[in-house]
Amino acid sequence: LNRRLAAFGTTIFAEMSALAARTGSINLGQGFPDTDGPEEVREAAVRALREGRGNQYPPGPGVPELRTAIADHQRTRYGLEYDPDTEVLVTAGATEAIAAALLALVEPGDEVIALEPYYDSYAACVAMAGGTRVPVTLRPHDGRYVLDLDELRAAVTPRTRLLLLNTPHNPTGTVLTRAELAAVAELAVERDLLVITDEVYEHLVLDDLPHIPLASLPGMRDRTVTISSAGKTFSFTGWKVGWTTASPALTTAVRSAKQFLTYVSSGPFQYAVAEALRLPDAYFDGLRAELRAKRDLLSDGLERAGFGVHRPAGTYFVTTDIRPLGATDGLDFCRSLPERAGVVAIPNAVFYDHRAEGAPFVRFAFCKRTDVLEEAVARLERLA
Ligand code: GLN
Repeated sequence: LNRRLAAFGTTIFAEMSALAARTGSINLGQGFPDTDGPEEVREAAVRALREGRGNQYPPGPGVPELRTAIADHQRTRYGLEYDPDTEVLVTAGATEAIAAALLALVEPGDEVIALEPYYDSYAACVAMAGGTRVPVTLRPHDGRYVLDLDELRAAVTPRTRLLLLNTPHNPTGTVLTRAELAAVAELAVERDLLVITDEVYEHLVLDDLPHIPLASLPGMRDRTVTISSAGKTFSFTGWKVGWTTASPALTTAVRSAKQFLTYVSSGPFQYAVAEALRLPDAYFDGLRAELRAKRDLLSDGLERAGFGVHRPAGTYFVTTDIRPLGATDGLDFCRSLPERAGVVAIPNAVFYDHRAEGAPFVRFAFCKRTDVLEEAVARLERLA
């Protein structure tokens, strides 16, 4: 293994899902729903398979039906205009979009600023691109993880190439406010930075807040690569259909990397996701309402079990503080939790460079059936 990757070992999601399987625990670690997405979307995939659409290599940028649906989605939801032919790229999940964007846009030695805690593939992909990551830490304040704008400003140096943003934010559940995004945008314009914004949880804003795409702020459209994924919005994480929207120049750059990573992927599923993006609002509202109820079920239960709970405004993760339970090391806590309670969670420390900042925090996923969450809560309440 080369030096760029040696530090990363096995992703925490594989480690913790294997631990759940080995111990027969309830897996609230890796974020995937235990109920598949809409029947009509599954049927659309079956139809595409049967009719021979996408069974052979689809076009490199993605099938036109899906690119058009993505452009329509950005326009109708956010008023953002993208040309499906030159400004939309379909990828193998958001994961490949992140990798391709970083590999395409980062020169060796460039600094990439990422909000810490950060999704684990960010660090590995910045390293593969030869970049240096510069974390800016989100810190809990009044029940919300907050971005310190002065710290963000101070992190920019002449070597900074781009900002890597994520809202709604995994693992903290923070939804960046318009004021925070405006400050990020202002900084990006002032220092002439590119931005990659990971908005895979765009439809999982659970509080009564809007999702604001960074690209919709003044000066941002042509310096921003926006990433999303069908995995989260439609509960088909195994299909690996993601995408980017960006200016023609940035899209061409990302495609240059993507063509040598996977070339293409997910043929028949692309057609199904094109249909999914056109589901009526009732679907998206229903998903949010369901997850809001599950967030509250799990958060209330974790509070009763003695955890400090950061109730998330978005995503399907809740970050907890284990110090009220007398524990301080989330990694030890998560490794022993299956034996002690038959539940698996994710230690937030793995998403930090400043590990001490994340040590006492543990993330639980609530994209699970109500009976599963109730059983998990019952088990965790017996911990105290
Ligand atoms: N995004 C999911 C999570 O944060 C897991 C994705 C993965 O396993 N790579 O839990």
